[in-house]
Amino acid sequence: MKNFNFAIPGLVSFGAGCISSLGDRLKAKNMNRALLISDRGLEKAGVVGTVEEILKNAGITYEKFLDVEPNPSSETVLKAAEVFKANKLETIVCLGGGSPMDTGKAAAVMATNPGNPEDYAGGIDLFKNPIPPIVAIPTTAGTGSENTIFAVITNRKTNFKYSIVSGKLTPSIILLDPNLITKLPPLVAASTGMDALTHAVESFISRGATPFSDAMGQKAMEYIGKYLRRFVADRSDIEAASGMMLGSNFAGIAFSWGYLGMAHAMAHPLGGYYNVPHGIANAILLPHALKFNAIADKENRYLQIYEYIRASDGDIGFFEPSMLVEEVVELGKSIGIPESLSKVGVDETHIPAMAVDAMKGSQVSSWRMNPRTSTQADIEQLYRDALKPIEL
Ligand SMILES: [Zn+2]
Repeated sequence: MKNFNFAIPGLVSFGAGCISSLGDRLKAKNMNRALLISDRGLEKAGVVGTVEEILKNAGITYEKFLDVEPNPSSETVLKAAEVFKANKLETIVCLGGGSPMDTGKAAAVMATNPGNPEDYAGGIDLFKNPIPPIVAIPTTAGTGSENTIFAVITNRKTNFKYSIVSGKLTPSIILLDPNLITKLPPLVAASTGMDALTHAVESFISRGATPFSDAMGQKAMEYIGKYLRRFVADRSDIEAASGMMLGSNFAGIAFSWGYLGMAHAMAHPLGGYYNVPHGIANAILLPHALKFNAIADKENRYLQIYEYIRASDGDIGFFEPSMLVEEVVELGKSIGIPESLSKVGVDETHIPAMAVDAMKGSQVSSWRMNPRTSTQADIEQLYRDALKPIEL
């Protein structure tokens, strides 16, 4: 068995209604001046207002930064960091899906370190100065960003989606409140749930997988397999929402310590070039990545994944990897995932440039950690294949 490390330094609090503890938890850590980072959609939905009430009632002083866009940019990060510095704040509270959380984590880096966020991408632990504590409250299930060592930001000039990677980016307080996801639109519930599934699956077959990431990924797949269909069918089903919230969080922990693979390597450029939502990109790419990686399947991992996520529970009989690919396609169809990249506005134009970007990143990049070695030509072919419904 190879050597490995893991750390989950933050406190994770799970439960319906647990966001009400936010103010007391901040005060207990002597964090009395907060920057609340969220987006305009959550402001309209009243979720920002709910959190503001909690902060006010606890006597926490706060500033808001709500102009976070999907696939947030370096400029957005710098603006948020400016608000933090100008008001001499002490902590960053990220409320949202992946975009506010990634913005908040990167803004924490830029609050105390010089230059641009890009300066700290392409390696691990590249920033020197200590960063303010981060609090994460996810409103999707999801990105898992509340518990990861990554902040994923887009350079608008080059369309490159880069990652800042450091254990210090793991939030120190994480509140998992399933009440916050009971009003998600069905396609957001479906696509973010497929993102979480992709985290669990890719970390489980990754070259970086460890017994710890396996354990987290397996529990994540169990919950997501059991609850994703049910959650998309009825988001107000609090048991299903709870299962997805935990599944997403465990999947985030799994890929922080086991890393990802081809679907994520290819999904990021789709966000950078075509602004495809991250969950949709992964949901469409996952079956293609599994088909490509099938010859690298070790220890019957494909069979294990299949057992966790299949819709029926009869005897499996003879298993072959194509059965998992088909099951993932059926899962996506049943919850309304578009069947191809061309359905979400992607065309051939940027395929070579996207393939180049898919291969960039640190020594733990998704491309490097994918179980099957691939070339730029392989990736271009996979993008072309994904423009159409998958051939099974
Ligand atoms: Zn993801």
